[in-house]
Parts: sequence; structure tokens; C-alpha cells
Amino acid sequence: MTVEKFVTALGITVSVYCINHGSLALAIQWPESGRTCTIWVDPVANYYGNTVDYSSVPAADVLLITHAHGDHLDKALAEEAIRGGALCLGSEEVAATLREASALPHHAPVKVAEGITVTAVPAYNQSPGHLKFHPQSRKDNGYVIDIEGYRIYVAGDTEDIPEMENLKGSIDLAFLPVNQPYTMTIPQAVHAARMIAPKALIPYHLTDTDLTLLEDSLKAALPEADLRIVPEFR
Ligand code: ZN
Ligand code: ZN
Repeated sequence: MTVEKFVTALGITVSVYCINHGSLALAIQWPESGRTCTIWVDPVANYYGNTVDYSSVPAADVLLITHAHGDHLDKALAEEAIRGGALCLGSEEVAATLREASALPHHAPVKVAEGITVTAVPAYNQSPGHLKFHPQSRKDNGYVIDIEGYRIYVAGDTEDIPEMENLKGSIDLAFLPVNQPYTMTIPQAVHAARMIAPKALIPYHLTDTDLTLLEDSLKAALPEADLRIVPEFR
């Protein structure tokens, strides 16, 4: 499992565990005190026969679940983490499916740990023929995770929706989904990356996407960004 490291302006280390397709974990550690907080986003143990041993990932303090599709919500794994003491936040549909989860409405920041605030933002399809996958009316979530001013955007399953303009210039690290027919094409991902202009960018939810073309296209669009292509996110 690839672990991508980032260090914030305050010296907080964010280790990104790149688990599979749509699943990642953020292991956050403060300097000096050594305090930690680990956030699992859309934890799924088995994606198309590829099984991940979550005991090799730091235990979760917080679970963030974007929506109830099987590549994002693994009920058994989420319930196990909740029994272990993790706080679980999700979309309305996730909260209806998983009794122990709380629904996090869009644009209502919530403090999940000392120094860490999470805000849910919209995620949906907007192209004709694709609307059924993630209808806007279902209110699926993306998340902005603010770690003492270091802001991480995990987009969830979405296209390059106009709400992304609101994030322009405010995101340190973005995770954008690129696969058809469910999320973005490469040109849409380029448009999304231009709208958000993150300092660092990790495309995820990649399935059959051409990673070389994706890398070349994003590099050309955002030459200054710290772009990391991680094959585990296929
Ligand atoms: Zn989905
Ligand atoms: Zn998905």
C-alpha cells in the first residue's frame, strides 16, 4: 500500500494511505506532542476481489463516508470501526443505511477532533445519461477536511460541478475521481483541477482510466501542482 506524505505549514504530518479505488486514510500527527488523529474515507476492504487488510492501516478515530455505493460503503468494516470507537459521518443515505452513522448536511462545518473541522460539500452527476448514478437530489457528500488551516478536499463521486469554484485557491490537497461512466472524464478532471487549483493533487477512483494520459493532461493544466499518480486507486 502506497503512503504519500505531506507536511503542513505548522509541521503537522499527513500520511495518506492509498488503499484502493475510492478508499483512503489520513493519518495525522502533530509535531512535539505527537498527538494523532486518523480519518478513514470510504473504507472498503474488498474491491473486485482485491482484499485489503485494514489492520495494516492505523485505527480510525473518524470515518467519513461519501455515499452508499458498494465501492464507498462497506457496512461490516464500518461497523467494526465504530465498535472500536470511531465517530462515523456520512450522507443522509449512509445514515439511513448504517444506524450508527450521523448525517452531515452540506456546508455545515463540524469539529471532529481538536484542530480538525470537516465540511460536507455536494457531489453529483450533471451530464445527460449519467444523472442516475449520483443524482443531485440524493445529496451525496464530498468532504473538505481542515487540519489547522491545511485543507484537504475528497471529492467523492462527482463530475466537475460548479460548486467546485467555491474551493478555488483554498485547497492544499485534492482527491478527484476520474472514471467512466460514473465520475469524470480526463477533460472534466482537468476542468475541475483548474477550477480548484489545489497545491497538491491525487486523482483517485480511476478504474480503466489511462494513467499516462491523465498524468500528462493534469501536468499541462497545473504545472505548479504537486501531482501524484497512485496506481492503487484504480
Ligand atoms: Zn458512486
Ligand atoms: Zn464510486
